[in-house]
Amino acid sequence: MPTPPPDRHPSRQDQPRLQVAGLTRAFGGRPVVDDVSLSVAAGQVTCLLGPSGCGKSTTLRMIAGVEQPDTGTIRIDGTEVCRPGLSLPPEARSVGLMFQDFALFPHLSVAQNVAFGLSGDKAAKAARVGELLERVNLAGYGDKHPHQLSGGEQQRVALARALAPRPRVMLMDEPFSGLDNRLRDGIRDATLDLLKEEGTAVLLVTHEPDEAMRMADEIALMRGGRIVQRGAPYNIYNAPVDKAAAAFFSDIN
Ligand code: ADP
Ligand code: MG
Repeated sequence: MPTPPPDRHPSRQDQPRLQVAGLTRAFGGRPVVDDVSLSVAAGQVTCLLGPSGCGKSTTLRMIAGVEQPDTGTIRIDGTEVCRPGLSLPPEARSVGLMFQDFALFPHLSVAQNVAFGLSGDKAAKAARVGELLERVNLAGYGDKHPHQLSGGEQQRVALARALAPRPRVMLMDEPFSGLDNRLRDGIRDATLDLLKEEGTAVLLVTHEPDEAMRMADEIALMRGGRIVQRGAPYNIYNAPVDKAAAAFFSDIN
């Protein structure tokens, strides 16, 4: 049977940029992502927060298109990119990806790394690369190679590379956990500023409550494959849904 075409809706200002409904995935008969629904608006940061092993990365990987759900739908700007019987490949979803391991191409220069996902004419690509390197404070670093940069600088190159093709949705999996404590707050704030300027919808995975409190417009609290609470950081912190949620937040200083 031919694959049905994606369901296209006219673009609407008020619809969430990313909409996930009923996403479920089991490994060896054990559900690790269990009926997860969430949405993220343009220019908004939603943090998927929960302890190690609760299914955060698997959720993110399904939204990215590198892992297939058993059931559920994923829409980006109203267009279905995934539903039973249909799964667009990652490159057709307009998603940017950032992981803890920045995975820059070691043999390419900084400028070539940032240009990697760009198509179009040379001058336009060079302009976009130059603009982004300036915005992550790495103007003049274009000809260097990743091994010549510090961890924080590599992280900023990875951010520039992920944003270069202007993805509609940015998916970030613990992107700051490899960084030195000393640098982390500054890099988090600078990253947030740039993401807000670009107007990207951001889904940020973290197991650290203080990171979610610092970065999120909305927190989706996850446990055992399920989202147990969603809301503004202040509300979740002050009115946790149960004792386990309260305990999870209790070590914030
Ligand atoms: P988190 O990112 O919240 O730490 P993950 O999504 O990485 O959690 O993993 C959730 C659970 O699913 C874990 O128990 C993990 O071992 C399991 N899991 C993840 N990927 C696979 C896989 N490809 N095969 C089998 N089990 C997996
Ligand atoms: Mg993970």
